Amino acid sequence: MQDRPTKLKEYQTYIDGKWCDASSGKKFQTFDPYTGEPWALIPECDAKDVGTACEAAWRAFDKGPWPAMSQTARGKLLRRIGGLIEKHAEHLAQIEVRDNGKLMSEMHAQTKYLPEWFYYYGGLADKIQGAVVPSDRPDHFTYTLKEPVGVCAFITPWNSPLMLVGWKLAPALAAGCTVIIKPSEFTTASLLEFMKLVIEPAEVPPGVINVVTGYGAVVGEPLVTHPKVAKVAFTGGTATGARVNELAAKTFKKVSLELGGKSPNIVFDDCILDDAVSGAISGIFAATGQTCIAGSRLLLQESIHDQFVEKLVAMAKQARLGDPSKLETQVGPVTTPPQYAKILSYIDIAKGEGAKCVLGGGPATKEEGGGKYFVKPTIFTGVNNKMRIAQEEVFGPVLSVIKFRDEEEAVAIANDIAYGLGAGIWTQSVRRATSVSKRIRAGTVWVNTYRAVSFLMPFGGYKASGLGRENGAEAIEGYLQTKSVWINNGPGGGNPFIMKTS
Ligand code: NAD
Repeated sequence: MQDRPTKLKEYQTYIDGKWCDASSGKKFQTFDPYTGEPWALIPECDAKDVGTACEAAWRAFDKGPWPAMSQTARGKLLRRIGGLIEKHAEHLAQIEVRDNGKLMSEMHAQTKYLPEWFYYYGGLADKIQGAVVPSDRPDHFTYTLKEPVGVCAFITPWNSPLMLVGWKLAPALAAGCTVIIKPSEFTTASLLEFMKLVIEPAEVPPGVINVVTGYGAVVGEPLVTHPKVAKVAFTGGTATGARVNELAAKTFKKVSLELGGKSPNIVFDDCILDDAVSGAISGIFAATGQTCIAGSRLLLQESIHDQFVEKLVAMAKQARLGDPSKLETQVGPVTTPPQYAKILSYIDIAKGEGAKCVLGGGPATKEEGGGKYFVKPTIFTGVNNKMRIAQEEVFGPVLSVIKFRDEEEAVAIANDIAYGLGAGIWTQSVRRATSVSKRIRAGTVWVNTYRAVSFLMPFGGYKASGLGRENGAEAIEGYLQTKSVWINNGPGGGNPFIMKTS
């Protein structure tokens, strides 16, 4: 078990290659969700600090060592970052657990895997290239250049703090952008540790990566509206994403949005039952349900419904609640007090709507392994897709079970939702797997597995789940723009009053 000191650790933030306090001198507390106790102090930045960071990021983009660095050298720098994350993976995971209460087993897996993003995009850095384009004029030579979009603002949530920064940072640096990161006010510490243990020793030039810590609108809105910011990469809730998109549109910034979900996990009667039961558990109770890709709508074919629910409840009942820093713990605390209140209110809503609670349904007591912010793994059956518990993101360990007759009805229910982030399909039929995957309107479909992610596979949402893609080669495009260059090697002249067409 990690040691939990009582004295508050004091952090500074990192702007223009220097450690500093907020310009106001203010700090706020960050809490350990397991104990409910504050454990660190974080600088409370505001619009002034955002301005300083944006100017620093612009200077670093415009002049100095960063734009002068070859793409190959940028690639090497990214690989150096990857190596340093490997070295400090254990410590970074411990900080994540203390700050957001996710399981040590999950956070360690995340920090150990994160270097792959920096190795992969480091390898791609000097494969970014334009093209020589055939010209339809005999004397012209035409080509394109792929150039970085400029200063990028990242706004990230509390549920996988470092991983979601890494998904943005690696392709942005590979593309040659500079960056300002605004982490969630609930989970800032791991990013500041990352800056100290990884970014500083990797010798990233000053101003290339800056951090502004603080509250959502106070720091986020000046960042999204700052004239020096060219692109906003946002991960968070759909309502905040809509606000960010609206604000960014006023100055024509490029925007990518990774938003909420209410993903269907569809179980057909020809599946391998035990695999599907385990997949349903992993879809909703892993990470205490606090994951954007949670399989929070479990669609069960009616012929196996009762048998499946029985097995599911039996397995979910065994889940060990407790201290997230212990490797044997399977369900940890909810990360934030407002999130805890929101989950409990959705449990009440589901009960009020007439759904049947077959497991859990409220806070978990100390005797049950719980604590201040624990919710018992909760399963509702008898849910219909019109209910709020079926349509709205809870972001907690609450599963809605919905019955369907056949493939047609399963697809209709799966798609009858505003979101489109992920979906699971459990079947042994290749025809059904390929046909249903094609018909589901979501950015990711998992067949006979759930919650798999990789630096190689594009990730993002359809519909209200987002815009753009992270991961995979395609993510780099989000940080690049194309310049067309025309060179006339022939005589000038011609009629200056008309467009030069061939
Ligand atoms: P949130 O929208 O409340 O906050 C996200 C970030 O936005 C935080 O840093 C917050 O401080 C900032 N913010 C808040 N108000 C702002 C404003 N007015 N202007 C600019 N920034 C502002 O989300 P959260 O509660 O931190 O995270 C949970 C949500 O994130 C869930 O909806 C979840 O589905 C989503 N999420 C999506 C993905 C994905 O990849 N699609 C991944 C993880 C989480």
